[in-house]
Amino acid sequence: MITIPVALQDSPYEILIGDGLIARAGEFASRVVAPCRSVVITDDHVYPLHGESLLSSLKLVGFESYPLLVPAGEASKSMDAAAGLCDKLIGLGLDRKGAVFALGGGVIGDLAGFVASIHYRGIPVVQIPTTVVAQVDSAIGGKTGVNSPLGKNLIGTFHQPGLVIADTETLRTLPEKIFTEGLAEVIKHAVIADAPMLDLLPAEKSTDLTGLIARNASIKGRIVAEDEFETKGMRALLNFGHTIGHAVESVAGYGSLSHGECVAIGMTAALGLSVRLAGLPQDEADRVQAVISSCGLPVTIPPTLPTEEILQALSRDKKFARGAIRFVLTKELGSAFVSDRVTLADVTDAVERLRV
Ligand code: NAD
Repeated sequence: MITIPVALQDSPYEILIGDGLIARAGEFASRVVAPCRSVVITDDHVYPLHGESLLSSLKLVGFESYPLLVPAGEASKSMDAAAGLCDKLIGLGLDRKGAVFALGGGVIGDLAGFVASIHYRGIPVVQIPTTVVAQVDSAIGGKTGVNSPLGKNLIGTFHQPGLVIADTETLRTLPEKIFTEGLAEVIKHAVIADAPMLDLLPAEKSTDLTGLIARNASIKGRIVAEDEFETKGMRALLNFGHTIGHAVESVAGYGSLSHGECVAIGMTAALGLSVRLAGLPQDEADRVQAVISSCGLPVTIPPTLPTEEILQALSRDKKFARGAIRFVLTKELGSAFVSDRVTLADVTDAVERLRV
């Protein structure tokens, strides 16, 4: 098992990473939360695979735990689902001494973290992420929330977990496509903070992923510790590839291209911009692009998505102040910076270059 500390000033916590940790989750959790009445919020895909093992381990150390299931998928990240869960917590008599266990991917982590943050004005949450996205990214850092009909992730809180338990064995039950999607965030971390990690890709879900997940968790944990509330700029570096990626995702319609696929497309565009505007050597950009492709992720924009609509979506999301937007670029792999000099013409050109 590898332990990564997240050194937040007020609420430091640990990320535990290793194979088979769910069977010991109760033991680990009881070190940070006194055994109490608690709920395991999860979804109907994950519960049959990993739910029983978690409930038994919690019971063993004295947690009285109730499973609460929502349908798998992004639609469960809603105010209605959050309100319904809060009512269930109240009905179960969970008061401010209770705790929430979030067992699942990013949807469950965001939803359960949000519920924990508002129930009795905040009770502890232990994150038990089961997708690559959740283990390397969403379970770490305390951003919780749900979607509004007007946009993704618009309603939320900062609520740091008391502990993150990343059981890498759970990744073996992931559908191949969902596993691959998570590699986009791994590539992002490599570009902004750990270039040698590119040599470890593509990763296979049947192999021991403890080291790879730990490397990523440590990058995310370090950035979050430096910039907990996204006010100092470092956390913005995690948006590498996401500006154009989000715009492509919203034009394609959420769900038709996966988030990871859109981030891959966005990273390819950001690499092109980095070559032209920040002096990233072309062969370095080509190297990353080859890794993206080798992971089975796209590097071109489907012809059905017009450039004009992508730019409109981007302008809704980001403000072009004095003709330019804030955009994450890299001049050397393993590091990144926020530029405020990327113009609409630059972005148009970057998008057009992704047409085959
Ligand atoms: P997800 O939670 O929808 O999981 C994807 C699918 O995999 C679901 O059908 C789920 O049931 C299934 N699944 C999960 N674990 C499994 C396992 N071990 N075996 C088999 N099936 C499993 O998607 P995701 O990609 O994990 O997360 C995406 C969400 O995360 C989005 O809502 C996004 O906004 C959010 N997110 C949040 C942050 C943050 O900082 N809070 C960061 C990145 C992403």
